[in-house]
Amino acid sequence: MIEEKAERRTVERLQAALDGKLDGYLRTDPASRALWSTDGSIYLRRPAGVVAARSEEDVKRALTAAREIGLSITPRGTGTSLAGQTTAPGLALDTSLMQRVFEVNADERRCSVEPGVIQAELNELVKPHGLVFGADTSTANVATLGGMVGNNSAGMRSIYFGTTADQILSLRCVLASGETVELAPLSREEAERRARGGWMP
Ligand SMILES: Cc1cc2nc3c(=O)[nH]c(=O)nc-3n(C[C@H](O)[C@H](O)[C@H](O)COP(=O)(O)OP(=O)(O)OC[C@H]3O[C@@H](n4cnc5c(N)ncnc54)[C@H](O)[C@@H]3O)c2cc1C
Repeated sequence: MIEEKAERRTVERLQAALDGKLDGYLRTDPASRALWSTDGSIYLRRPAGVVAARSEEDVKRALTAAREIGLSITPRGTGTSLAGQTTAPGLALDTSLMQRVFEVNADERRCSVEPGVIQAELNELVKPHGLVFGADTSTANVATLGGMVGNNSAGMRSIYFGTTADQILSLRCVLASGETVELAPLSREEAERRARGGWMP
């Protein structure tokens, strides 16, 4: 009874914070919460609500609401994971609708995409340039780049192409605080400088 009341209050707070304020959408109805409660695993953990984000702004709005309400956030692509890592009782943050490809630079063999882009669709796009995003998971026709990064997905030809981590040049991430950061490899010298505390701007 007390739990039910607290759950209802959480749902109301989510609705007040996010309903009608997203480029994507918020779902808090029992059917949607059941749909997003599992992935490719046997786990069943019903989220308090689901945000299907369509933009970086949506991600920030969802993180702000979750922080204010005190909910954990669990990102999710197409939810094909096998170990329940997309299931949790907090707010499910689905980025599978974020499917923009910002740039394909064939000369430098790199592209810039949103996390919901599907691996096989990206590969169709870059095929005319003789390129391929390796790390060929067997779920390539549904797996999102965001989910592949989360799992460091690999496949049969990873021994040649490497895993997902080997293909990533940089990541633009929104932290739980709402801050946006760009993550990219550092030179050894720069890593050592920062390890000595020389990273403050
Ligand atoms: C039949 C079958 C075969 C499979 N074969 C393989 C295989 O060959 N190789 C392999 O590596 N895996 C395999 N998998 C597992 C899975 O399909 C892959 O790892 C896939 O790349 C996951 O992509 P997804 O979009 O479904 O991610 P999800 O399952 O939705 O998410 C995966 C992880 O990434 C996180 N995440 C998702 N999106 C974001 C985001 N935007 N920001 C931050 N974190 C995020 C999630 O929280 C989760 O921890 C298989 C699964 C099945 C069911």
